[in-house]
Parts: sequence; C-alpha cells; structure tokens
Amino acid sequence: MSIATTNPATGKVERTFDALTEKEIEDRLDRAAAAFARHRATLVAERAACMNAAAGILDDEAGRIAAVMTTEMGKTVTAARAEAHKCARACRYYAERAGEMLADRPVDAGAVDAERAWLRYLPLGPVLAVMPWNFPLWQVIRFAAPALMAGNVGLLKHASNVPQTALFLEELFARAGFTEDAFQTLLIGSGQVERVVRDPRVRAATLTGSEPAGRAVGAAASSEVKPSVLELGGSDPFVVMPSADLDRAAEVAATSRCLNNGQSCISAKRFIVHAGVYDDFERRFTDLMRSRRVGDPMDESTDVGPLASEQGRADVEEQVADAVEAGATVLCGGERLPGPGWYYPPTVVTGVRPGMRMYHEEVFGPVASLFRVGGVEEAIELANDTSFGLGANAWTEDPAERERFATGLEAGQVFINGMVTSYPELPFGGVKHSGYGRELAELGLHAFCNVKTVWVG
Ligand code: NAP
Repeated sequence: MSIATTNPATGKVERTFDALTEKEIEDRLDRAAAAFARHRATLVAERAACMNAAAGILDDEAGRIAAVMTTEMGKTVTAARAEAHKCARACRYYAERAGEMLADRPVDAGAVDAERAWLRYLPLGPVLAVMPWNFPLWQVIRFAAPALMAGNVGLLKHASNVPQTALFLEELFARAGFTEDAFQTLLIGSGQVERVVRDPRVRAATLTGSEPAGRAVGAAASSEVKPSVLELGGSDPFVVMPSADLDRAAEVAATSRCLNNGQSCISAKRFIVHAGVYDDFERRFTDLMRSRRVGDPMDESTDVGPLASEQGRADVEEQVADAVEAGATVLCGGERLPGPGWYYPPTVVTGVRPGMRMYHEEVFGPVASLFRVGGVEEAIELANDTSFGLGANAWTEDPAERERFATGLEAGQVFINGMVTSYPELPFGGVKHSGYGRELAELGLHAFCNVKTVWVG
C-alpha cells in the first residue's frame, strides 16, 4: 500500500509520500536510542508541562487537524474535532496523574524479611506503535501520552492512508517541548515493520489494528522476547432486555453502529434483543438507522461520511451479499450510494446465521445484525459465540441481570445501559482474538514500565 492521502469523499489522491529508506530508518532508530537517554533523565513535572502544552495545541488547533483527518479518512469533521479535544483531555489526565502513578509503591517489608521494600516504575526505552487510521489521533495519543510520561520514547508507524496526521503528531510533541526525537513518525509500509520490531534498539511494541496485523507484530515481538500490547478487532454485542428503556437503547444502538461511519472497533455490531421487545426495538432501530444523513463529511450536518477506502467498502458489500445469498434479509440500506466517494448507507440485516460471514467476522462499516432471543442465558451464549471479546453492551433495569451480564459477557469492558466508549480513566482492551494488555488509566501507563522490585535488608 502506498503512503498517500486519498480523499474518501472523492476518491482523489491528494498527496503522496516516499517511504523511509533503510538508511533513514537506521538513523531514526539511533536518534530514538539517544533521545531515550535524555528523556528518561527528565523530571515527571517537566514531562507534565510538555504534555499540558500538547493538550493546549490540540485544543487550539482542533479545527485545522480535524480537516486533515477528514480529508485523509472520511470521518465527519464534527467527529474529528471532538477527537482532537478528547486527545487534549487525555494529555491533561496523564500530565496530572502520572506523578502518583509512577511514585514508588511500598510493600510490607516485614513480610519479606526486609528493612524496606518497594516497587519502582521505570521506562523500557523506545516503543514502536503500529496504529490504524480509524481514530488517527486518538489511537496514537492514548499510547503516546502515558508512554512519554513514563519516560519512554515513541516511534510511530501509522496507517499508510493517514500520513499527514502522522506527521502532525511528530510535530505536536516537538512543539510541546519534549526532548528532541522523543516522538518520531516513521513513514514506512507494513512490510518494514517486522524489521523495526526486531531491532535491538526497540524495546517493546504496541499495535492497534486488525487481527492478522496483530498476529504478525505480536509474533515478531514475542520471538524477540519483547513485551507487546495488542488492541485488535471487535464484533461487540448489544443486548436489549424487556426492562430496558427502549427509546434510549434504540438511539444509542444507532449511534454506536454508525460511529465513525461504522468503522470503530467498539461499535456495537450484533444486536441481540429479547423476544418480548424485539418487534418494537427492530422498528425503532431501523427507523433511526434509515434517518441518518449520509453525505459530505466536511458538512457539519452530516451523520455518516464515506468509508475510508474503496477496498473497505467492497469488503462490507461482499459480507452483506454473502448473508443475503444465504437467506438473510436487509431491512434498510444494503446498496452503495451512486456517484464518487466510498459511501455506504446505514444497513440493518436480520436472519444472520452461523456459516454466514457476517455472523463470524467483524463488519467494518455501518451494518447491524439483529437477533431475537428468549432469555438472559441465550443472549449471553449468542453474544459470546464469536472469536472476538472487545466490548459488550447490555440494557436492563434488572439488578440480577446486570450482574449476570457483567460477569458472563466475554469482553474487556461491559457497559450496562450505555455505549462502550474509551475514557482516559478506564482501562481499555480485549480478550480472545481482540487482543491482550490494557491501554489507558494506570494499567496503560504501567504497560510499558519495568515494574522493578527493590528490596533492602
Ligand atoms: P490494519 O490493516 O491491521 O492496519 C493497522 C496498522 O497495522 C497499520 O499501520 C498497518 O499499516 C499495519 N499493518 C497491517 N498489516 C501489517 C503486518 N502484517 N505487519 C505489520 N503491520 C501491519 O487495520 P486497519 O484497517 O488500519 O484498522 C481496522 C482494524 O483495527 C479493525 O479490525 C478494528 O477493529 C481494529 N481496531 C482496534 C482497536 C482497538 O482498540 N482494539 C481500535 C481501532 C481499530 P499499513 O496501513 O501500511 O498497511
């Protein structure tokens, strides 16, 4: 895949970039190692001042960077601006909290025959971050803010279709005053990633993206005995029980499925509804999906912009066609929109069964599968009948059902009566083929620390 900005609303290539040569990669890795020696020696308070400066730039320049993101990957400009502000909030959260998260933690010295014993949190070194295009700022910031605060340095290999956002991120941390080269963008293709993971100057890797990419990077890192965090795909269930507030559940269901033009790992994708309220929910949800405005992502009133790539739209079309051929029914949408741009409308499909691609695969576009179930256990069984385990939503006013869903749904996060969302304060990650490790909150900061035990007798 060439490194280029191609506008999904028009299909036109706007800018192309050359991948780094082998010599340039070597130079960047040398600079990362040198930057680590300087950056690890800075005080947490100095890093916090830089992180707050980065937050200020993100807030002040949200409009400019939002337009770049929209041009590169098609999210609505409204969503892109909100993403920039969310990134600013995460930077401030880590600026404020990293000090206490990194402070020495005493342990009971008497129990371990010591005069004093404690945990000390130290950085690992240069960390490679392989990132996706769908939240091109947020995915990077949620790695970079805690990693830089912990004293690590970052090397970003961003998705090939968001090079201008990738270069903005390098510039952002430099302008914010971080040590020179503490955060570098490597414009490289996916074929050059393994070589970087295996380089001895790189001490750890994190990847957010698809399962095949995660397998490749995770395998290379583990064979070099380097830690890794993998944030991969999801096919989140959204369970609706009879006691749920159906108005809210249907509204949040449509919002979740259309989030980021349907291209979010934590969008609800499979809607599992109790038979007692199924018909009512199906009607409300389908009406809401049909009513979403699809169009130019630069237009403030647009709800759903184009998919990020021509191939992405073709994949969604093939998944829907496969289901329809095997007997599924399309209640709304289901046909690409005419004209330029990679538009695909909000779509609702019923009658999705095991064996159909949509039943087993993640659908990375605004396409919902609706299922009818008879009770809590059947809902949990269907929700868990997937190789993924990222997020899960359940809607119920019944305390016993809430408890059952909180424990029984196989996912890294369960949201009851709300939409799965990432917050700086909450650990984020998956189980099963959705990945391992956690980002955000304190766990995210400690993910790339040497948690050193110190014992003094
Ligand atoms: P992708 O194709 O896996 O790409 C993600 C990143 O990995 C890109 O930088 C890509 O580079 C690189 N890459 C691809 N194949 C690779 C390989 N074999 N070795 C090394 N690097 C490789 O995913 P995407 O299409 O950008 O993003 C969509 C996927 O990400 C979905 O499955 C979505 O659910 C998942 N996602 C997960 C989370 C989460 O937090 N769990 C968040 C967002 C997205 P190139 O662009 O150069 O190919």
